Amino acid sequence: MAEQAALKHSRQRDAIVAFLKNRTDHPTADTVYQEIRNTIPNISLGTVYRNLSLLSERGEILRLTCDGKIDRFDADTHPHYHFICKNCGCVQDIDFPYSEQIDQLADSAFDGTIIHHTLLFEGYCKNCIKGKSKSL
Ligand code: ZN
Ligand code: MN
Repeated sequence: MAEQAALKHSRQRDAIVAFLKNRTDHPTADTVYQEIRNTIPNISLGTVYRNLSLLSERGEILRLTCDGKIDRFDADTHPHYHFICKNCGCVQDIDFPYSEQIDQLADSAFDGTIIHHTLLFEGYCKNCIKGKSKSL
């Protein structure tokens, strides 16, 4: 019985990971819940939240904490940078190589140990500047 429950839980978790792998828009927990219900109708919002937390603690997905905004999730766990639009709130990848040098610089200026860094660029996305001047 416990085994069956564990199996069911890992199936739900697998479905969440598979869903995130198909998305490039870094969805919120709410969006994951709304969309995953199409394949798992009886899943609860709490289960989705719990699984997203567990997966990000295990490093299987990334949790993007966007300063004062709702967390977003990403199945792409390789170190990469993000952009958030100040107008529509969309989150996109920035195709820009991860700088190990920043880690080394910070490490040499700090008493502890630096493992990695995250960067969140802010501005206006392509859609939001369409027909407007680039500085908005
Ligand atoms: Zn935008
Ligand atoms: Mn990403």
